[in-house]
Amino acid sequence: MSAERKWESYIRKVVPYIPGEQPKEMDIIKLNTNENPYPPSPRVRKILEDFDYGRMRLYPSPDAEILVDAIAERYGVKPSQVFVGVGSDDVISMAFMTFFGSDKPILFPNITYSFYDVWADVYRIPYRTVPLRDDFTIDPQGYKCENGGIIFPNPNAPTGVLESVDMIEEIIKANPDSVVMIDEAYIDFGGQSCLPFVEKYDNVLVIQTYSKSRSMAGMRIGFAIGSERLIKYMNDVKFSVNSYTMNTVTQLCGAEAVRDEEYFCETVGRIIATRERSKKRLAELGFTFPDSKSNFIFASHKDKPASEIFEELKKRRIYVRYWNKPMIGNYLRITVGTDAEMDSLFDALEEILK
Ligand code: PMP
Repeated sequence: MSAERKWESYIRKVVPYIPGEQPKEMDIIKLNTNENPYPPSPRVRKILEDFDYGRMRLYPSPDAEILVDAIAERYGVKPSQVFVGVGSDDVISMAFMTFFGSDKPILFPNITYSFYDVWADVYRIPYRTVPLRDDFTIDPQGYKCENGGIIFPNPNAPTGVLESVDMIEEIIKANPDSVVMIDEAYIDFGGQSCLPFVEKYDNVLVIQTYSKSRSMAGMRIGFAIGSERLIKYMNDVKFSVNSYTMNTVTQLCGAEAVRDEEYFCETVGRIIATRERSKKRLAELGFTFPDSKSNFIFASHKDKPASEIFEELKKRRIYVRYWNKPMIGNYLRITVGTDAEMDSLFDALEEILK
């Protein structure tokens, strides 16, 4: 590139987050971005079929009350305790902008969702990472110091490790002066949610998504539940940036999806069953992994480097996620797909590891 222009010195320069690959071909076994292998609730399909396309003429509801009300009803909270956004990435990003305005560093684990440090950088929020223990669990002691806020996923990503609500409450109790955010993107696959804490502590925000357990990654729906006080602050920021973030079709589909509890339980149950079977097969193939309570398994092979397995799988049109980074460079994050997809993966692994 040519020499830097004067105007370039005024730019907010950032190193962006790199999302998992979204291949164009359809014949790939895609186990790299923790999507759900099953379609969304059939009730969502009906909403799409019945949608009057003439409504696109009009702006969507800025406060998405149909969706907010349906989520509030499902989780037993007031609509004024629910914030919705375009995927939980949008919700977390808004929450960073709203709550992490202190000049003290915010805290999150050293191995975690790799968007947190990117948002901290883009919003100029100071941060400090807290090392996980060797077994990838969170050490609550690391969160008992002065800070400008706290965030971690439960279960953590990309490890899949679930923390107990008691340990999380210990962190919350030690931090009455900070907003504590629990990113529960994967909680529905076997974890206990921290949602009850939002009634007990007005500084706790719990964030969830439709992208995993509700099979709607492509619709982009995420939500946060917290005290009315927290949610009001978030809405004030959101309406100061862009009021019409979520389109009408998405609002309607999201409301209908969250009402279909039966389908939700059935598909989540299927993924849990496939995950448990997959753990056995991976162990037989010589992999070790922290126990996962999510829809992915973070696995390392005793002999073959993860980078080589990753490339070999790719040649066979099976995509998993690999990061060439310290501490996790010998792990593969494998999304739990259908039983048939996992069987193809195990056949390929058997061949690669022969
Ligand atoms: N949090 C964690 C821990 C995640 O792994 C993801 C998925 N990349 C998200 C949040 C964001 O998901 P979405 O924006 O699709 O709701």
